[in-house]
Amino acid sequence: MVKIEDYIPLVGQSLIDELRLLGARLKGKVVQHINSTPVGGGVAEILNRMVPLLRELEIDTKWDVIKGGEQFFNVTKKFHNALHGRNEEISRRDFEIFMETSQQNIESLHTYGDVVFIHDPQPIALIKKKAANKWIWRCHIDVSNPNEKVWEFLKDFIVRYDSAVFSAPVFSRKLPIRQFLISPSIDPLSDKNKELPQEIIDSVLRKYHLKKDKPMITQISRFDRLKDPLGVIEAYLQVKKYTDCQLVLAGGTAEDDPEGFKVLDEVKEKAKNDSDIHILLLPQNDIMVNALQRASDVIVQKSIREGFGLTVAEALWKGKPVVASNVGGISLQIKHKYSGLLCHSVEGASFAIKQLLNSPEYAKKLAENGREHIKNNFLITRHLRDYMLLFLSLYHPEDIVHLY
Ligand code: UDP
Repeated sequence: MVKIEDYIPLVGQSLIDELRLLGARLKGKVVQHINSTPVGGGVAEILNRMVPLLRELEIDTKWDVIKGGEQFFNVTKKFHNALHGRNEEISRRDFEIFMETSQQNIESLHTYGDVVFIHDPQPIALIKKKAANKWIWRCHIDVSNPNEKVWEFLKDFIVRYDSAVFSAPVFSRKLPIRQFLISPSIDPLSDKNKELPQEIIDSVLRKYHLKKDKPMITQISRFDRLKDPLGVIEAYLQVKKYTDCQLVLAGGTAEDDPEGFKVLDEVKEKAKNDSDIHILLLPQNDIMVNALQRASDVIVQKSIREGFGLTVAEALWKGKPVVASNVGGISLQIKHKYSGLLCHSVEGASFAIKQLLNSPEYAKKLAENGREHIKNNFLITRHLRDYMLLFLSLYHPEDIVHLY
């Protein structure tokens, strides 16, 4: 098991000392995270790492998941898309379905934490159970341009929280409660991101019949329209005219994402005549994702909308050159032509991929800068510190909290 001290070689002793100090200040508090899926997607990815590390820091941390059926998750997926600014028809019945399932969770889920930490819109209505404890709403979505109907509906809940957390300044909204800006992170010591021996990488390549001697372009993402897998195939086809290469589109599905299989079918259909396109429906296996990222020559994240885009940080951390859309939190991670290449279209993506494949030295430089940027800003140790300061702030209405 990873210990907090294991991070010292990466981030230095003083940050770890500070984490221990903050942990001691929060001793005795129970922090209860609640979200809508135990696996799949960035929120579960972070909680899987965050929860054991907070416990390591002696904060009694729990993680509960709300229950919901297909109808409920169809509605919350519509909410998700609408909050990202996509045009969605949302009916009165949709809001009723949302409230019916929320009511069942209100009745069955015990919110016992001193701090109840609610992630994203799906469990937002649990705030109706607020008692003397502290409640945080953590928004992982880019809500800078939301569908107003959905936003106004959610806002009635949000204003009852003690604090709200957004990933970036541009995502935040005008709200009468305290807001915090905390960007997500990756764990450099997790199975997803740790160094891997070459044999493991090779065995994953063999398993999926991927060629070691052909440039490999990869996008790892849930099969979701907002990740634009069809656009990735189009960009690859344009690159392929000039450079022989292979494309890997690898993803799983998330329990709270009912659209996944439909999108996967469309992707398979578009890819069916090209044996160099590999569509992989991955089991939940972090080593496999890690190996695929490490085996790639270029990693793509051609999202149409994005909260943060953990896959970008994961790729940069592995020293890989990245081509990604200039949306949401991706622009926090990639400075164009410095730590990767940003694009706005299929043509832009294919141009950037060609450039990286043709100029390995340039690609290497961007990747090195990217890794440094992730190291300085987006590792889980920084995230732990931000969250613990946030918990402390709940007990301090004043703006400055003295730790010593
Ligand atoms: N992921 C995974 N297996 C898959 C697809 C994605 O483990 O088949 C992981 C990916 O490595 C990343 C997370 O799921 O850690 C996705 O987070 P991101 O912020 O990129 O997107 P989200 O799915 O939250 O929109």
